[in-house]
Amino acid sequence: MKQVLRDFPQIDYFPIVVFSERAVLKNVTTWTPVIYSRELIQTIKNLNSEHNLTYEQMSKISVRLNGLRMHGGRDRKEHIRTIRNKNIIETKSSDSRICPRCGSQLRLRKGRLGEFFGCASYPACTYTENIRF
Ligand SMILES: [Zn+2]
Repeated sequence: MKQVLRDFPQIDYFPIVVFSERAVLKNVTTWTPVIYSRELIQTIKNLNSEHNLTYEQMSKISVRLNGLRMHGGRDRKEHIRTIRNKNIIETKSSDSRICPRCGSQLRLRKGRLGEFFGCASYPACTYTENIRF
């Protein structure tokens, strides 16, 4: 965003995470405000930033940002997939998993029902663990 608006160096940036009303917010701990969309205007007002943009500048910024927004379902699906994949990779790469039965490492394995963690000593040890998301 700063890249897109680099010709407006006077802008202050405040990160805010906004969810639609359909989302259920779990216990989120972060310094960034995490809010529902209905709280957005008030949250922005509370930030109490200096009004250092002219109306004309704000219009230009608005037009440019609208051009960036994700359109249609495809981009959104892509976005969700990217996040899901990231989670899977993080789960897979946590390789400190140790078999509680024999102390060997757990390895990622592919079975008929998908991927799971299996003991490296298989078939001597048949311990398995589901991949958690
Ligand atoms: Zn084992």
